[in-house]
Amino acid sequence: MTDPTRRNFRWPDSASRPVGAPIQPSVVYASTDPDALDAHYEGRVQGYTYAREGHPNATVLAQRIDALEGAQGGIMTSSGMAAVAAVLLGCLRAGDHVVGGDQLYGRSLRMMAQDLPRLGISTTLADPTDAAAMAAALRPETRLILVEVVSNPTLRVADMAAIAALARDRGILLAVDNTFTTPRGYRPFERGADIVIHSVTKILAGHSDATLGYVAARDPDIATALNDFAVTAGLTASPFDCWLAERGLLTFPLRYDRAEANAQALADHIAGLPGVRRVLYPLRADHPDHNRARSVLGARGGHMVSFELAGGRASANALTRAAPAIAFAPTLGDVNTTLSHPASSSHRGLSAQARAALGISEGFFRVSVGVEDIDTLRDEFSAAIAAATSAE
Ligand SMILES: *Cc1c(COP(=O)(O)O)cnc(C)c1O
Repeated sequence: MTDPTRRNFRWPDSASRPVGAPIQPSVVYASTDPDALDAHYEGRVQGYTYAREGHPNATVLAQRIDALEGAQGGIMTSSGMAAVAAVLLGCLRAGDHVVGGDQLYGRSLRMMAQDLPRLGISTTLADPTDAAAMAAALRPETRLILVEVVSNPTLRVADMAAIAALARDRGILLAVDNTFTTPRGYRPFERGADIVIHSVTKILAGHSDATLGYVAARDPDIATALNDFAVTAGLTASPFDCWLAERGLLTFPLRYDRAEANAQALADHIAGLPGVRRVLYPLRADHPDHNRARSVLGARGGHMVSFELAGGRASANALTRAAPAIAFAPTLGDVNTTLSHPASSSHRGLSAQARAALGISEGFFRVSVGVEDIDTLRDEFSAAIAAATSAE
């Protein structure tokens, strides 16, 4: 008799292959005998044992991102921050020193300022657009530099060539968080990086329905250390999120190119509207790092635009209320355009002076541009900025 409580199914063989990727949520994998487990753990056969250590959906997705980044053996993590944590906690030891960009993602900054020092790892933040400042931050015990190519939310462009040269000359690991630039805008391994990090949550997956990260290292020993730490600390990714992200990744190049073209057009449009104090887009001639953007990013300005209105909180409130179709949400990389207000979200923990030093006023907004029709976006931003300007 077949016992319906007994799960001894055999997955059906098929002469044809599934076109959509199957999802494999099983946490555990059964082996035939201890010899088979030995063969697996000794690397003589390929297989899975326990989902925290790996599963097919993570393998499929990581290999696809590896191909985009020119990497090998990248791993999927449960979030972008899990990837950052795997790098900082899996590669460093007490007594090491780390230099980070001073405008890193907020939680990366927090890890640099609070968690690493608690574990005996000292840190210094420096301006990655200033090669001399980065050089001055280095110490004999500096083991790793962590930078983002384009900063959040002021979209400053790091001096990547100088930073890579410093890291190479001093034998320091260079880790690049490539979330904003994506492998379509910048390929860190081709420019001297040792480690590449992504928040796959953002435009790689692209639909705001999966929280995921990715990390790859050039040196196989470092890759092993990262992977071991991620598995031990439980930083690895779920099959379902990987499955969703793999589907999202299929359209990543199309979404990125469209969002980037929209961003460029929207930046120029917003710059011409009354009440706008400044627009930040790396390829615009009025961007502070315009020349460096050309050499670092080529023609790839990316999908992020920031702008500043002359008004204060009242006009900021009026702007988001006048654009109900544009999600006012502190994220980026969604298929649709989203709007964030750093002063009340990502940068609310900073003092008013620290925000002012970064140029983040109450009138400062960051736009993650999506794939919508550009005419619709132009009309919506015209209306929203007009409402904001008349609310002053
Ligand atoms: C969002 C983000 C992260 C963190 O990613 P999560 O998936 O939210 O954990 C790290 N770095 C950058 C640049 C990001 O934008």
